[in-house]
Amino acid sequence: MSLVYKADPERGEEWRALFRQLAPQMPFYIWPQTGPVEDVRYLVVWQPPDRLAERFPHLDVLFSVGAGVDQLAGADIPAHLPVVRMTEPGIAQDMAEYVTLAVLALHRDWPQYLAQQRQAVWREVRNVPAARRRVGVLGLGRLARQALRQLQPFGFPLAGWSRSGGEIEGVEVFAGDAQLPEFLARTDILVCLLPLTDQTQGVLDRRLFSQLPQGAALVNVGRGGHLVNADLLAALDEGRLRAAVLDVCDPEPLPPDHPFWHDARILLTPHVASMTRPETAVTTVLEVIAQHRAGLPLAGAIDRSKGY
Ligand code: NDP
Repeated sequence: MSLVYKADPERGEEWRALFRQLAPQMPFYIWPQTGPVEDVRYLVVWQPPDRLAERFPHLDVLFSVGAGVDQLAGADIPAHLPVVRMTEPGIAQDMAEYVTLAVLALHRDWPQYLAQQRQAVWREVRNVPAARRRVGVLGLGRLARQALRQLQPFGFPLAGWSRSGGEIEGVEVFAGDAQLPEFLARTDILVCLLPLTDQTQGVLDRRLFSQLPQGAALVNVGRGGHLVNADLLAALDEGRLRAAVLDVCDPEPLPPDHPFWHDARILLTPHVASMTRPETAVTTVLEVIAQHRAGLPLAGAIDRSKGY
C-alpha cells in the first residue's frame, strides 16, 4: 500500500521526511515517481494527473493538498472514490490572520494611505469606530468560523451568510438566497470565503455589489472565479466599493498588463492567505488513512454532489 504525492516537489521532500519518520512502513513517492501503480492506494494532489482512474486502478482515497477542491473539477474521478480536502489546522490559522489583516487594512483606510504615500500627500481620513464598521463573511465553513472568532475582540458587528445558516456566538447568521440581500445591506466590509462551485462562480458581481452600502469594501480569499473582474472595476469607479483586498485572481498568475496591478484601490497578494503546512498535513493525512482502514467516516471528505 503506497502513497503518491503530486504537488509542489520542494514541500514534497518535507512530506517524504515526515512520512519516513511517522509511517516508515508506507512507501512514499513524489510524482512522477509512482512505484508499482497497482500498490498505490492514496494520492495527494493539487492538480490531478490525466486518466486518473486508468493510471491508479486501486486508489482508495484522493486527497487535495489544499482546503479547496475546485481544481479537481473536470478530472475523471470515479464516483465511488472518496475525495478528502485538507483540514490541517495551519490553514485555518493562516486564513484567520490574513482575514484579520485585510479587514483591519480596509477598516483603517490602508489602500488610500499607501496611494497617498506614493504621491507624498499628508492627508487624514476620519477614523470610523470598529463598532460602526459592519463585517460580513460569505461562507461559514471551517475557515470563516476561525476568522470570525479572531475578529471578535476588535468589536466589529459581525455577520455571516451560508446555504444552511446555523448559530455562531457573537455572529448574526443569515441563510440562503432569501436572506442574502439583508446580509449585504448591513455589510461594510465583505469577505468571500466560499468554495468555488457552479453555484458560486461569479457570485461577486455587479448585482451583488449594488446591494452593499455605498463605499463598502471587499476581501476575496475564496477563489478568483468568484469575482467578475470587470464588475469590481466598475463598482470601484462608481464608488459603490472604495477598496478591495484580493488574494486570489482569475487568471493566476495575474498577467503583467492586468489593470488590477496598478489600481491603487486594490491590494493584491499572490494566493498566499493560507499555505498547507507539511508537519500538520502529514499527521492529518495519516489520521484519515487510519479512519479509512478502520471503515470510519473520513474527516474532510467532500460531498461529491455539492462539490465541497
Ligand atoms: P467549508 O467547506 O468548510 O465551508 C464552505 C462554506 O460555504 C459553508 O458554510 C457552506 O454552507 C458555504 N457555501 C457553499 N456553497 C454555498 C452556496 N452556494 N451558497 C451559500 N453558501 C454556500 O470550506 P472552508 O471554510 O474550509 O474553505 C472555504 C474556501 O476557502 C475553500 O473552498 C477555498 O476555495 C478557499 N481557500 C482559500 C485559500 C487561500 O489561500 N486563499 C486557502 C484555503 C482555502 P453550508 O455549510 O450551509 O453548505
